[in-house]
Amino acid sequence: MAVLRSTIVLAFYGFLLFFFPLTVHSAHHKKHTSTDYKVTFNPQLPPRSFAASKRYEGSSDLVNLRYHMGPVLSSPINIYLIWYGKWAASQQLLIKDFLLSISTTNHRAAPSPSVSEWWRTVSLYTDQTGANISRSVLIAGEYSDTKYSLGTHLTRLSIQQVIASAVKSKPFPVDHKNGIYLVLTSVDVTVQDFCRAVCGFHYFTFPSMVGYTLPYAWVGNSGKQCPEVCAYPFAIPSYMSGGGAKPFTPPNGDVGVDGMISVIAHELAELSSNPLVNAWYAGEDPTAPTEIGDLCEGLYGTGGGGGYIGQVTRDGGGRSYNMNGRRRRKFLVQWIWSPILKACAGPNAID
Ligand SMILES: [Zn+2]
Repeated sequence: MAVLRSTIVLAFYGFLLFFFPLTVHSAHHKKHTSTDYKVTFNPQLPPRSFAASKRYEGSSDLVNLRYHMGPVLSSPINIYLIWYGKWAASQQLLIKDFLLSISTTNHRAAPSPSVSEWWRTVSLYTDQTGANISRSVLIAGEYSDTKYSLGTHLTRLSIQQVIASAVKSKPFPVDHKNGIYLVLTSVDVTVQDFCRAVCGFHYFTFPSMVGYTLPYAWVGNSGKQCPEVCAYPFAIPSYMSGGGAKPFTPPNGDVGVDGMISVIAHELAELSSNPLVNAWYAGEDPTAPTEIGDLCEGLYGTGGGGGYIGQVTRDGGGRSYNMNGRRRRKFLVQWIWSPILKACAGPNAID
């Protein structure tokens, strides 16, 4: 459910593989396009594809992802954005461009590999009527709390109060049918368990707090608090840089917000497939479900796993990404567990 990059030690070995593969492997692949000089990096493939992701060491047979009969988000998805704290317009635009890249209907198709192709894996999940998760995702409303009404430290419960204040404000509706609520906290806001246990989470609101049961997610900007945890690999722990490793350059030049994009993607995928925490998850404990994003956390390309992120692309400016979005945006977004392939899947897969 919650995103946390906890396998730092494993990640270190991933980095060793990552930064020194060319000394022993010559399969470095370069290609030119008319618009961009791109290098596919992380060229080394481990012997077993998808074999070492931390949640299912070695075999997908160990992944017992099951459907628990609850709803998925099968109607067109209306996202209501709640900006808590101070946000630059450029940061808001970047996050909105990502969200608006998911749907295939509201923009000209981005070149492959694209964000909407990435969401296709999410859309493969169904409810008991056979209805798929919707491929239509739009931003239906926005609310800004620039005054930090509940302070600069939020708890899980006070996040619900933030949503309650937002839905009590007039132009920001309660959308029972299609609405999901995405609370984004600015770089100066601390949140219960943020950085130590979570980078984001999703749940649903309580009628006693908000008046309704509404699926929501929270993601924080970790840029000044713990980028090496929540915006990895755009920031890396100091023991790695001591070994000569360098962080990746974020595709949009903002370590904190580019890092948030993948966490937002993770939470949206899980919110859609498990909105009331009674649909798609693995494990026997519904209070600690392993969901469709958790199974592929930290994995961004072919050959990833065990802290090794897999093959992604680097553009002429040195920026790392694995998928395209609207308005020529590029993003680095983790893969999602496919119910068809019984493996992690993403649009930039090369096999
Ligand atoms: Zn999760």
